[in-house]
Amino acid sequence: MPQRRIIIAEPCGFCSGVRNALAMIEKKLEKTTENIYILKGLIHNNGIAAELRKSGCIFVEDVEDIPPGSQTVFGAHGVSAKVKALAAERMLHVTDATCPLVEQLQNQAAAVTPEQELVLFGHPGHPELEGVLGHAGTDKVFVVRNAAEAAELPELESPVLLVQTTLSHVEADKVRHVLKARFPNLSAPGNICRASLLRQQAVERLAPECDLFVVAGSPHSSNANRLREAAERCGTKAVLLDSPSEVTPELLKGVTKIGLSAAASTPESQIEALRKALLSC
Ligand code: SF4
Repeated sequence: MPQRRIIIAEPCGFCSGVRNALAMIEKKLEKTTENIYILKGLIHNNGIAAELRKSGCIFVEDVEDIPPGSQTVFGAHGVSAKVKALAAERMLHVTDATCPLVEQLQNQAAAVTPEQELVLFGHPGHPELEGVLGHAGTDKVFVVRNAAEAAELPELESPVLLVQTTLSHVEADKVRHVLKARFPNLSAPGNICRASLLRQQAVERLAPECDLFVVAGSPHSSNANRLREAAERCGTKAVLLDSPSEVTPELLKGVTKIGLSAAASTPESQIEALRKALLSC
């Protein structure tokens, strides 16, 4: 068996928003025998989604796919004001598991006045972004995916920059820097959330001394991908693995020191299963 060392980044794994969302759905499952509809996913983890399906939860992407009067959960990424209104119209029994930090971002978007422009650094298509845009207090909305797109924005009179909670803190700084240089009156009240920041910084401290960096998480998790990128920025080969079965001898060839981190939506059991697979492969 090859001598291999695994160092786990601290902190990693579940954040408070995810713990809270899971506790809310567990409580709902205990209380009802009716079908529970989860709108736009609870958190981005395939293993947890599979367990919830086994418990009888039904995942839907559109509020209109939920039968009127049904038990419903809004996931940690939040939903738009329009979706909340539609849910009320359909008399859904809603448990709102939106993370308080996402809710804060929605409130910041709602506070942007019609005269101001909202510039949102985010990934189009992500449910959090859709929810935040659905609270914007202005029609003048610009989504930028990176600093290059921020540099190409048209002239803006009174821009407000907000940031999706799970993006890269390095990229967010670049976007802020570009916009501040172009628009000295830029208001930039938000940043990525503290849980994402601390997990990225932990990867940045550890990755330079590792031969390989492994992030435990699902491919559609934004914060998992940002952790992988953080390790890559340090010049370390990095992979995102959703299951121990993805660990192969080829991946570990010549590797003696592995850094291990996990997305804010990855359970402890998945981290431990991956750690064991990395040691025994
Ligand atoms: S990653 Fe941040 S914003 Fe998202 S659920 Fe966790 S604490 Fe909330």
